[in-house]
Amino acid sequence: MKARGYLGRADTLLAMLDNMAPRGLSPSRGLWLEKAFFPGELISRTLRRTLRERLNVKVSASFHLEPLGCLAYECGHDRSLHPADNVIVEILSQTTGKSLEPGSAGLLTVTVCGPEYPFIRVNTGRTAILTPAPCPCGRTSPRLRLLDQEDELNNGLKQIKAI
Ligand SMILES: [Zn+2]
Repeated sequence: MKARGYLGRADTLLAMLDNMAPRGLSPSRGLWLEKAFFPGELISRTLRRTLRERLNVKVSASFHLEPLGCLAYECGHDRSLHPADNVIVEILSQTTGKSLEPGSAGLLTVTVCGPEYPFIRVNTGRTAILTPAPCPCGRTSPRLRLLDQEDELNNGLKQIKAI
């Protein structure tokens, strides 16, 4: 049986790759992976590039926050995230708390409609941009781009454009 996908932690996959080399194994011999999905683990650009170079696979991840659960996921077309079906996202100004227009960077706030009780307007502590632009995957939901430390260091918030 040939496994074509990996589901798990990125550091575990990297450790597996590191342990293959001393045994004379390589990802191109004996692994048939096409995709790697890291649930609940946002992957930095650097790590994403490393995984692509070492494995030549499509990498995607999802954004979780406890106790809210899965808030958004990558469909695989780019690093943007589709909100989960039961999640309403808002981007708020960090100074006024008011909703910002799509394409503006601000504080990601979510409302999660759970089966027992909702979480209403929870501050995730993350900076994000929301865009209503259609995704090549065909989903019609808006997309989120979480700004990570690399984005903020490399570009500065004011220079980051909408997805
Ligand atoms: Zn998509």
